[in-house]
Amino acid sequence: MIAANSQSTVRAPSEVSTVLNIHDLPGVIAQSSISFGTIVGPRLFLGGEWGQAFPLPPSGVPLQAFFQSELWPILALDLVLWLWVWLAPTLVLPCRFLPEGILGLALPGLVLVRPETYTWAILRHELTHIRQMRRWSPLGTWLAQAFSYLVRPLWILLGQRRLPSLRELYRLNPLEREAFAAMDQDGPLPRTWGATPAQSA
Ligand SMILES: [Zn+2]
Repeated sequence: MIAANSQSTVRAPSEVSTVLNIHDLPGVIAQSSISFGTIVGPRLFLGGEWGQAFPLPPSGVPLQAFFQSELWPILALDLVLWLWVWLAPTLVLPCRFLPEGILGLALPGLVLVRPETYTWAILRHELTHIRQMRRWSPLGTWLAQAFSYLVRPLWILLGQRRLPSLRELYRLNPLEREAFAAMDQDGPLPRTWGATPAQSA
């Protein structure tokens, strides 16, 4: 008698070998870094003073470690989103389902606005966030947001023995300060498609 789950454990190894794991994907790149280290590396570095000052790392090891880490898929996705915010015009969509109190929301290549309060000022605010994504990449702006809402409160708690309110953190957030400052400014805006504000304000 074979239990149902023992069958699945027998089948597992062959499945594993055929399923493409995302961490196996850059194996070729990691392999090629070995030849870069051993063939190109010595030609670049040996013989010069740099060869003595900065001995070559073990061939391919840093790149291989990078591609085996959880970091590279995140950075690859960020690079794709970064290209997207630079190359594609931002789509502006009215959205009635934004959480209470949120008038607009900027995502890579997409701005959601509450239709009843949609103005040019709101659009300029959200497009400033798109500009910030172009400047620091989407991941860069999210790290800055994480700093504002996770690290800064700890900082204030340790320094001033009090926990700041969300509103205070929002007001202190440098990304929001820049976006608020842009709301009453004129000037060219990043290209958009989709909804334009009806009001002139
Ligand atoms: Zn904002």
